Amino acid sequence: MSAASNALGQRSQSRHWALCCVALVSLLAVAFGCDASFGQAQPLPGPDVPQIYQRLLAQIDEIPVFDNHGHPGFPNDPDVDAMQIPEDSSAPFRLRDDNTEMLGAARKLFNYPYPDFSPEHLKWLADRKAQEQKKLGNAYFSHILDQLGIETAIANRVSMPEYLDPTRFRWVYFVDYFLFPFDSERLEARDPDQKLNVPLERKLLEGALSQQNAGQLPADLGSYLKFVTGIVESKKAAGCVGIKFEIAYFRSLHFDDPPKERAAAIYLKYRSGGVPTRADYRDFQDFIFRYLLREAGRLRLPIQIHTAVGGGDYFNMHDGNIMGLENILRDPQYENVTFDLLHGGFPYEREAIWLTARKNVYLDSSLMGIFVYPDELHRILRQWLETFPDKIVFGSDTFPLSDAVGAEEGYWLAVESARTALAAALAEMVSEHEISEPKALELAHAYLHDTAARIYGGTK
Ligand SMILES: [Zn+2]
Repeated sequence: MSAASNALGQRSQSRHWALCCVALVSLLAVAFGCDASFGQAQPLPGPDVPQIYQRLLAQIDEIPVFDNHGHPGFPNDPDVDAMQIPEDSSAPFRLRDDNTEMLGAARKLFNYPYPDFSPEHLKWLADRKAQEQKKLGNAYFSHILDQLGIETAIANRVSMPEYLDPTRFRWVYFVDYFLFPFDSERLEARDPDQKLNVPLERKLLEGALSQQNAGQLPADLGSYLKFVTGIVESKKAAGCVGIKFEIAYFRSLHFDDPPKERAAAIYLKYRSGGVPTRADYRDFQDFIFRYLLREAGRLRLPIQIHTAVGGGDYFNMHDGNIMGLENILRDPQYENVTFDLLHGGFPYEREAIWLTARKNVYLDSSLMGIFVYPDELHRILRQWLETFPDKIVFGSDTFPLSDAVGAEEGYWLAVESARTALAAALAEMVSEHEISEPKALELAHAYLHDTAARIYGGTK
């Protein structure tokens, strides 16, 4: 072959590759619903963003919501959470009592006629809620969901009250207390928040022991594990659809894998008294945490884990960092366990999304979505949607904070923020030719409803 024909051959070969590339780009464009003439996505949104946003928001408003995590209940109900946030804790700006956004909630849910939350007007609101509760009885909270387009809500509570309809509210049960069977004097001494909350965990354990074991700790580790399993199985039989850890409030989210013999020896040493060393307590907790993971896998109960900065001024962000869980999440021995990581790992949410590469790991935007305003939430959701859009779920983390901000208003703030932030993120992605509008709506359904509904076995 001459040099000329060789060169010609190379040219036709490169032409062939060029054609293949064009065909591939067109195919990809069709597959992703883009206009083929754009090819690559654009780095800046176009002037069409506001129109796309309005079109998407109108449709997103109609998507029935599955709330992946919240604490519905009345302010005087002690079972809305296993823990308490100390009264004098610093509230981030958006969650303070004077946030005027909450007027929107009061107007939407209770036809609140005032432009402020003065003490007299708050009294009006409290009276109005009392009237509604009287009128609607056990349907009161279902009516709140109806008004906000929430189809189903996870209720993360110590126990389920009659006033939450089980066809709308699905129960996730706290299990942290199994990690506190020994004298906890040393743990309580860490700071005032531990002093408040460790005894609450100990009390829950005492309650469970008095029901199952005449108030006594079982004789050895094997019997203790049977007791733990018995309680979790009984909660599942009573309707619980998942279990929850808020253990990041108490210790590091990094759990080692101590052998069972070590856990058994620690148990025998402190079962009847004595203050465990920090290392002994930690190793025992590491073992029980992993035992609960295995049981959750066996019982097909998804696990919710608090993974963001938390309430209370002593929350240790270094210990509570979601990345501490990476050894567990990427461990193949737990691939039958569904991990539902709450609050997006905030403020480490950019790293957290990469943990959902594992098929059994999901990331929830609750709490984070009301810590930040919708503008910031739209930036966060956009990064998540561009990474693993099929692994993210909406959650409210609603909680009865005060008269002005009850669980009712919490639902409103969370869904309104999420819908607008989601529409904004998707509108930019459509405008920049990353995705088509039909694809945007598919991702919206997944985030607001479908993915969480799948985790918890659909709706009743
Ligand atoms: Zn919560």
